Amino acid sequence: MTGLLEIQGLTAHYGDFKALFGVDLILEEGQTLAIIGANGAGKTTLMRAITGIARVSGGSIRLKGRDLAQLSAPDILTAGIAMVPEGRRLFPSLTVEENLQIGAHARTGNRFWTLDRIFTLFPILRERRSQPGTALSGGQQQMVAIGRALMSNPTVLLCDELSLGLAPVVIREIYAAFPTIRDSGAAIIVVEQDISQALKVADHVHCMMEGRITLSGRPQELSRGAIHDAYFGVK
Ligand code: ATP
Repeated sequence: MTGLLEIQGLTAHYGDFKALFGVDLILEEGQTLAIIGANGAGKTTLMRAITGIARVSGGSIRLKGRDLAQLSAPDILTAGIAMVPEGRRLFPSLTVEENLQIGAHARTGNRFWTLDRIFTLFPILRERRSQPGTALSGGQQQMVAIGRALMSNPTVLLCDELSLGLAPVVIREIYAAFPTIRDSGAAIIVVEQDISQALKVADHVHCMMEGRITLSGRPQELSRGAIHDAYFGVK
């Protein structure tokens, strides 16, 4: 099977510590894929490896057949992979609009996302456009972080723990934007500790534990018991 993003045998280290042990993953065009797993499973490391932030020590990452292994993080962004990082990481001294514009510095060939389209996706950001990003609520800051990533017009959008620390109503509001994001042509990978949220949003789910994918399948194919065992490492 060939996909938009193909990862084969990926390993990653922090110094001598091995965090990923041969991860294989395929993301198809138009797909939303969820990666679930407990604290320390390696989900963030996988995202950071894809975006060129974590050191890849083996295996391959291909976007439309192009090997990303030798590219720097900024070049991977320009190649079409943008990330919404865990904790949002907004620039505190910049306004909402300026935070969004930062994302536009790495625009790819696609030109779908503009400031106006981000404001249509998340109308509250239009009202708050002149405020510092950090003056917003957590959910609104998450919207800015998503908007900032979209402004580069990515082919692949990686979202790390979008729902962390947010109220259920806010989480629903954020995930309600996903169909529009998909229609813009971006395939999506979400990292989630919230299993039911992951099952709701994804076409395909991978569960990770201790640096390995321990279970994969479509949400409707995976039983709660199998997910529980893969998540907590029950043999
Ligand atoms: P969480 O949900 O807590 O973010 P995770 O599944 O994203 O968990 P990672 O953050 O990828 O897991 O961590 C995978 C492993 O790598 C863990 O054992 C963690 O302690 C280790 N690790 C993560 N970042 C570093 C780092 N900068 N230096 C050393 N070890 C790290």
